[in-house]
Amino acid sequence: MKVTVWNEFAHEREDENIKAIYPDGIHAVIAKFLTEAGIDVTTATLDMPECGLTDEVLDNTDVLFWWGHVRHGDVPDEIVEKVYERVINGMGLVVLHSGHASKIFHKLCGTTTVNLKWRESNDKEILWAIDQGHPILEGLDEKIIIEHEETYGEHFQIPQPDELVFISWFSGGEVFRSGCVFKRGRGKIFYFRPGHESVPTYYIPEVQKVLINAAKYVKGTKSADYDYGWAAPTVTAE
Ligand code: ZN
Repeated sequence: MKVTVWNEFAHEREDENIKAIYPDGIHAVIAKFLTEAGIDVTTATLDMPECGLTDEVLDNTDVLFWWGHVRHGDVPDEIVEKVYERVINGMGLVVLHSGHASKIFHKLCGTTTVNLKWRESNDKEILWAIDQGHPILEGLDEKIIIEHEETYGEHFQIPQPDELVFISWFSGGEVFRSGCVFKRGRGKIFYFRPGHESVPTYYIPEVQKVLINAAKYVKGTKSADYDYGWAAPTVTAE
């Protein structure tokens, strides 16, 4: 399996506090634990030519991870269209945290905005497993506790997920659909909420386990091309 971890890579270069947590970028940390899990990983960032998502890179990507926050608007529509086509044709996509506001997530959700409530107050988050037996939960306990995270709260303006894997509770009282699978064409998309840039969430072993499982789960399978349009009878009278 080949994974490409894409990151806008802005906060980690611009803010010393965030650089201290992710010196080589959030993508480098995600790439490291995926690699250690035996996955073939490359990284791509917004400032690379074609946002690092050339045809050659995408041809060699089974699953794309997406982290973005302040530069969603700088991703050209042509790149979004290209990624969208790949997902519809079976490339897996893992959308992380503030990636809910990315163009690609909006396009796949079929909406123009995906709003939510938020607050940077270092609340405790507890992710409760909902879909017992789901492959993304393999090897995990019934809950994951994150001592400090950014809060996201409902209502989360998404279409009804095809599979709801996690719901989060926050110490401020909010709840949030934190792990959601959407199916679009041949593709599977997993949205995973935790991963704010100012807290070391991607170093938490249970979070890493979720993302390793998610990569395996959303990886596409090779299915045949189907015929559409006028069709001769499949069964004919003798
Ligand atoms: Zn955030």
